[in-house]
Amino acid sequence: GREQRWEMRVSPLAGGRRIVHLIDRTSSHAAEKMRVDFVANASHELRTPLAAILGFIETLGDDKAGGDKEVRERFLKVMDGEARRMQRLVEDLMSLSRIEAEKYRVPDAAVDLAMLIDEVHGVLHDGPNKRGHDIVVALEDEVPFVAGDRIQLSQLMHNIVGNAMKYGRPGTPITIKLKRGQGTMVKLSVADEGEGIPAEHLPRLTERFYRVDSGRSRAMGGTGLGLAIVKHIVERHRGRLDIASTVGKGTTVTIALPAASPATKEKAALSEQT
Ligand code: ADP
Repeated sequence: GREQRWEMRVSPLAGGRRIVHLIDRTSSHAAEKMRVDFVANASHELRTPLAAILGFIETLGDDKAGGDKEVRERFLKVMDGEARRMQRLVEDLMSLSRIEAEKYRVPDAAVDLAMLIDEVHGVLHDGPNKRGHDIVVALEDEVPFVAGDRIQLSQLMHNIVGNAMKYGRPGTPITIKLKRGQGTMVKLSVADEGEGIPAEHLPRLTERFYRVDSGRSRAMGGTGLGLAIVKHIVERHRGRLDIASTVGKGTTVTIALPAASPATKEKAALSEQT
């Protein structure tokens, strides 16, 4: 459990008597600590590549080392990689704060997840899918649209499928399934055949900057924010997120989202006509 925090306030009354207020500050204290940790972590994550870039600039400015064409090219390549890491990080930080700012506005566009799967699949296939994964898409017939924010749902899909590509064993398939869930929910799942995640890490995966193996995450270009972004998007959509994993076998991420009501679909169709 977490540490209890009590604040005590004493108000004097006439006749030497007092009122003692005990205020439970446990949750605001925890929230404050999380905020402070987050800023510290983000600063650290940005400072490391920045220090590398500054170091290389200094060396390049030095006539002896910087004069050599081969050295220069090698350094520029490293600097490019570090700058891109910073760029991904800043973009993910901005996404997180944008999603958080919209937390209380329930998104209501009718979004066709089957179409999003195709789009994300196409984008990822030419980019990060250099490790030879086949993508198998299994669509149930007539899955309803979900009520959502198209851009955020696309980002959610991108992050989850991207993880399957990063952490799946090279050459193994990635399976994306879309079907009806319980009640009016729509269920999306992405399964990989990778090294899996030990059970003790599962509850913490959606924390910002939490990584099972930070060396590996960094080597794969990860920011450590992907699943935190996914969690925030799922919460904003009043959905559920479940991560199941077997070490040595692989990981399945399942997301359940509320289907769009017929009224929402009507609205979407109308706005498409105009
Ligand atoms: P990262 O940018 O590091 O991938 P994420 O927030 O997307 O950050 O994921 C957090 C951590 O969860 C990763 O560093 C990795 O250790 C673990 N992880 C996420 N998805 C998978 C997966 N499909 N298989 C194995 N590990 C995963």
